[in-house]
Amino acid sequence: MATTRPAAIKKQTSSGGVIFRNSRKGIEVALIAVKNKTVWCLPKGAIDKNEDFQTAAVREVREETGLSGEVIDKIGKISYWYFIKDENVRFNKTVYFYLMEYKSGNTDEHDREVDDAQWFPIEEAIGKLAYKGEKEILQKAKKMIEKKKIS
Ligand code: ATP
Repeated sequence: MATTRPAAIKKQTSSGGVIFRNSRKGIEVALIAVKNKTVWCLPKGAIDKNEDFQTAAVREVREETGLSGEVIDKIGKISYWYFIKDENVRFNKTVYFYLMEYKSGNTDEHDREVDDAQWFPIEEAIGKLAYKGEKEILQKAKKMIEKKKIS
């Protein structure tokens, strides 16, 4: 009888951001596309050694979207599980998100590791996001922007 080794459990942490600007179309936020442009998500990535969560969030947003922003506030965190079959590992991941005001840069300069980066009106962006946790983060970010009347 074949025996199945129980999967190991590993914790992972990343930082990411909601970068926004005020345009003629209202508030816009930048999303990235992965998995052959089938999945739109918020920019995020692993925290480097000796880097704090906020610095990592600003760097990941800049690398993945091509955009530089200034952090306004924390938004919150999300957690999810995923399984890597080849390693037989179940990852329990937590991602911390920060709200950032756009300062400079262009989405044409997005990381070649992502399939695309684009600005979307914030309500459209909420609809485009693939993951429920990220939709909730963006909804919260929208409330924060409206409340603070930023820009
Ligand atoms: P990072 O961007 O932090 O370097 P990564 O690209 O290595 O991470 P993830 O984006 O965490 O990895 O994706 C790992 C798995 O988790 C994929 O199968 C992906 O579809 C899934 N996933 C990514 N984000 C979420 C989420 N917010 N909720 C649920 N599942 C997610």
